[in-house]
Amino acid sequence: MSDPIPTLHVVHVAVHTPVHSGVGVPLSYTHSHPLPPGTLVRVPLGTRQLLGVVWPAPQDAAPPPEHAKLRAIEAVMQGLPALDTTWQRLVSFAARYYQRSVGEIAMAGLPPALRDMTAEQLAKRLQPPKPKKPSKKGAAATAAAAQQAVDNCLEPSQDHSESIALSAEQQSVFSQIIQNPGPFLLYGSTGSGKTEVYMRVVQQALEASPQAQALVMVPEINLTPQLQERFESRFMPMFGAQAVVSMHSGMTDVQRLKSWLAAHTGAARIVLGTRMSIFASLPGLKVIVVDEEHDPSYKQQEGARYSARDLALWRGHACQAQVILGSATPSLESWHASEPASSGGPARYLRLHMPSRIGAGALPRVRLVDMSQQPKKTVFSQPLLEAITERVQRGEQSLILLNRRGFAPVLYCADCNWKSDCPHCSAHQVFHKGDRTLRCHHCGYTQRVPHACPSCGNPDILPLGKGTEQLQEELERLLRNVQRPDGQPARVSRIDADTTKLKGALQEQLALVHSGEVDVLVGTQMVAKGHDFRRITLVAAVQPDGALFSSDFRAPERLFCLLMQAAGRAGRDAAYVSDQGSQPEMWVQSFEPQHSVFAALRQHDYPAFAAQQLRERQDAGMPPYAFQALVRADARTQETAQAFLRAATDAARQGQLPCLDDVFVYPPIPMAMQRVANVERAQMLIEAADRRALQRFLHAWQPWLHWVRGQPQHKGVVRWLVDVDPLSL
Ligand code: ADP
Ligand code: ZN
Ligand code: ZN
Repeated sequence: MSDPIPTLHVVHVAVHTPVHSGVGVPLSYTHSHPLPPGTLVRVPLGTRQLLGVVWPAPQDAAPPPEHAKLRAIEAVMQGLPALDTTWQRLVSFAARYYQRSVGEIAMAGLPPALRDMTAEQLAKRLQPPKPKKPSKKGAAATAAAAQQAVDNCLEPSQDHSESIALSAEQQSVFSQIIQNPGPFLLYGSTGSGKTEVYMRVVQQALEASPQAQALVMVPEINLTPQLQERFESRFMPMFGAQAVVSMHSGMTDVQRLKSWLAAHTGAARIVLGTRMSIFASLPGLKVIVVDEEHDPSYKQQEGARYSARDLALWRGHACQAQVILGSATPSLESWHASEPASSGGPARYLRLHMPSRIGAGALPRVRLVDMSQQPKKTVFSQPLLEAITERVQRGEQSLILLNRRGFAPVLYCADCNWKSDCPHCSAHQVFHKGDRTLRCHHCGYTQRVPHACPSCGNPDILPLGKGTEQLQEELERLLRNVQRPDGQPARVSRIDADTTKLKGALQEQLALVHSGEVDVLVGTQMVAKGHDFRRITLVAAVQPDGALFSSDFRAPERLFCLLMQAAGRAGRDAAYVSDQGSQPEMWVQSFEPQHSVFAALRQHDYPAFAAQQLRERQDAGMPPYAFQALVRADARTQETAQAFLRAATDAARQGQLPCLDDVFVYPPIPMAMQRVANVERAQMLIEAADRRALQRFLHAWQPWLHWVRGQPQHKGVVRWLVDVDPLSL
């Protein structure tokens, strides 16, 4: 007599298979008993062993093949509760919407450390630390330490909510959020107290249920350590030391695993994170905040190109969490969604407005300088230079913005017209004077600056245009005889990607600005965001015109937003400004001072700007009045890349895909940055008036794209991708 053959159960598992292997459906494995969807397992794939998530059986699943042919699940990651249905649905939705495999999205949403961990390692990690048997003396010390910890928690923190009374505007916004399901667009000036409102809403939700959790997303967590401190000092005393965790790419794998586990098990009540945190497992999710919702960094720009803001809205709807989008300059998409529908119906988002700045002075006066009236090649117009000089002499600070690092964007020879082009990209190599290099900002290719023109030998090669490095040098020269109130010479410093490469460098340099060591700060847009500079009373954008002539239809929106944010840096502290007796100012030097972007900026009138831009977008049939996707192909030659895109279009026509008549497929064109690192790039725009039609078409098209790519004549295609709702064209 032999034992009965044990019954094996078929289990579907989402694993991260390479994207090229076709449309990613969960793979089938066997296990001795059924496993609930959401269970983490380790499975064999080829010769490797991978982390996977048990997935619900696909609806159109073919009958399972012979069990004998399926491989067995290697191990179940014991001790972890299964990922909940909402999380699974979020992953499925994101995979379908952004045309990626479920496994890829699922794995991207899990901490990297977990992917590389065996079941035993995880079990060890989850074990509570063994209680050490304390000696008598030790016991007393432990008890004292525990008491101290409790005391620390109970000690009234400086930032205790009871001590801050909401302003009338905050109160009104808060009660509307409490009384409505949302989603909300909180449109409030910088410093209007939006963060305080987020904290009240979060607190209210967390107090309502001991399981409740909140997700607070910010664009770049490294730039906002202040926010983390505010949340920790407010909520740790209320909900315990584990209550607030962070999730961003600057953390180590171990830290990320810890945060993830805390959120997944419910120990953490608040997750503070960048876009990646939208995939955090939060079984008790009740509130999602997307701060600075207009920020492009919410869109992932490689791999699965998801928008964390858009997914936040989906997730909030799916798990009935309230979603609050906040901004002083909302994206035109969100602004549009918060306008009453043209049909007269209600807006999709409830718009809430907080116009007043708390504790800050009035918004700065905007001064426009017409550069066509200035001598040729002027970098700092006379009136701007005088205004900066006065500030230095009064001991106030100025912030000078230029979105181009390096000394000059290109070197050139006046004799033969040679330019410092990157040999691998359709871009110039930027001249960096500090280390005498020419560097390509796209592929990184770096060379020493030649002593003479490589083409004709002329020793006189010249920098063309200005970067931040040159602005700093020029300001140091122009201000060399200007003294601070303490008799010291003016100090000019610079913050950009070049000066902040080393860990901690940014914080150090910011500290110098805060302590008043620096009189004039030159920087790229990385300093325009979020920082709370108390003593800056003048902000200047010296060459913002580029964005007005960009081929990207979103460029004016981004410029306006950047200038509004920059303006928000001036005069943050009303007390400081009035002590000094000076009026905060925002200076803009432009050859087109009449442009509608600047007219709206002068009035600090975002709604007027948005209305004008939305009219233009509507007339041109651009988002948010149309929906777009980009198909991009990279190859050695432009022709190879475009041929693939053309073949893909032909396949769509031959396949008579659903909704083909509802989408418009533009012909392939070279990308604006046509060549990077010796790879030619082509793109093709797909547009539809209806989001669902675009989605249905893309979904049906995806297997065809894989099929076309597999044809021998398209071997030369290095890669291709689909970008749904692309942010830059
Ligand atoms: P935002 O997020 O809109 O930029 P914050 O919430 O950071 O604004 O508020 C700006 C400043 O005002 C912060 O220093 C904050 O502590 C303070 N603040 C916010 N609300 C209040 C209030 N009701 N009373 C006093 N100070 C407040
Ligand atoms: Zn290059
Ligand atoms: Zn030359």
